[in-house]
Amino acid sequence: MLSFWEQDAATFHDALIVGGGIVGLSTAIQVKRRKPQWRVAVLERGLLPSGASTRNAGFACFGSLTEILSDIDRMGRDAALALVEKRFRGLHKLRETLGDSAIGYEHHGGFELLMDAQMEALQGLPSLNVWLRPTFKTDVFQVMKERNGQSAAASLGFNVKKVRAVVRNPFEGQLHSGKLMAALETRARESGVEIRTGAEVVDFDENDAVATLWAKQPGSKERIPFRAAQVVFCANGFTHRLLPGLGIVPARGQILVTEPLPDLRWKGCYHLDEGFVYFRDLATPEGPRVLLGGARNFAFEAEATDEMAVTQTIQDRLEQILREVLLPGKAPRIARRWSGIMGFGPEKKPIVKRLGPRTVLAFGCNGMGVALGSLVAEEAAGITLA
Ligand SMILES: Cc1cc2nc3c(=O)[nH]c(=O)nc-3n(C[C@H](O)[C@H](O)[C@H](O)COP(=O)(O)OP(=O)(O)OC[C@H]3O[C@@H](n4cnc5c(N)ncnc54)[C@H](O)[C@@H]3O)c2cc1C
Repeated sequence: MLSFWEQDAATFHDALIVGGGIVGLSTAIQVKRRKPQWRVAVLERGLLPSGASTRNAGFACFGSLTEILSDIDRMGRDAALALVEKRFRGLHKLRETLGDSAIGYEHHGGFELLMDAQMEALQGLPSLNVWLRPTFKTDVFQVMKERNGQSAAASLGFNVKKVRAVVRNPFEGQLHSGKLMAALETRARESGVEIRTGAEVVDFDENDAVATLWAKQPGSKERIPFRAAQVVFCANGFTHRLLPGLGIVPARGQILVTEPLPDLRWKGCYHLDEGFVYFRDLATPEGPRVLLGGARNFAFEAEATDEMAVTQTIQDRLEQILREVLLPGKAPRIARRWSGIMGFGPEKKPIVKRLGPRTVLAFGCNGMGVALGSLVAEEAAGITLA
């Protein structure tokens, strides 16, 4: 049972945020900025954020050529281009707010490797550049040319039997996701936001006057009530556990990182297969490494889970891509493997909306939270305080 003091002082807030990922922390900061007198707290179930924000690949990206063309097919041109514009704006906002050095931002550009199955996308490249011009003022996608009689794929050390073309996008960069989240946490605490970790929200109810969140700490069965005037759910791939019926489903993403590779010839963030596979260089004191992730499309059903685990099927597939496409003729040792949980909604767009008199949902970075997180948070704070 709570002590008198806990009951009296610890559990009532003006705003409570469920989930301490990019969206949750950014929402808390935004609410506190607009209402400095409010008591605002984040309830995070993990000791560290335990979803996607500290377990991602650190791409500061907004969509590759094949991914945007596929989005246009699926969502229509206006909606797909609006999403690209929003991601690009979001990246600017993030960098401007936290500063490049605090988030370990490096600008080496974005690239896409096209294999036989994707070569058709080159036909759509000129039109896409024209459609993106209002946002970027110049061409976004360029096919890399031969140099000294060598194809771009050959000069970068990729398998030329598989990689038919390399498309460059000078607007993308990469960052250190751990530093980004540490910077957000510092910003949140400095602005007076309370962050409670090890607090898993297991249930909630609301009426016109107040919302109550029931939280448990690890190893305890006691359900502790936290009351608030406003609650914002930012639980991403775990949303379905608290709010079933919204069509939000979890999707696991798996990653591996190699041992240092002193003769690695490229830097930057790379996309393959409509963005389902992604890799980048990772600068470490011991030398550059390759971070490679994705391949969820090889086991869609098995990866539609919020269980944090790595599997043989996906890790084998990633290693095969490493050996056969990225580093032909080499068999680098793998230093680390992990997974993170994304959330996908019925559409590829964020869903930020009021659910009830005291509750708001902020969801939907759909695998691109680095770019979208701050804008989703801004919208969530606006709706919460409206
Ligand atoms: C493997 C992988 C690679 C990715 N790569 C990139 C990339 O390179 N670039 C990019 O832009 N995006 C990438 N993403 C996506 C990006 O990380 C997400 O879009 C973003 O982190 C979402 O932020 P969020 O705050 O909405 O969710 P999350 O970071 O998932 O935060 C949700 C938080 O809520 C907490 N929570 C859940 N349920 C409860 C509960 N009941 N009570 C209390 N707390 C709860 C979780 O522990 C978690 O910390 C990747 C994702 C994965 C998994």
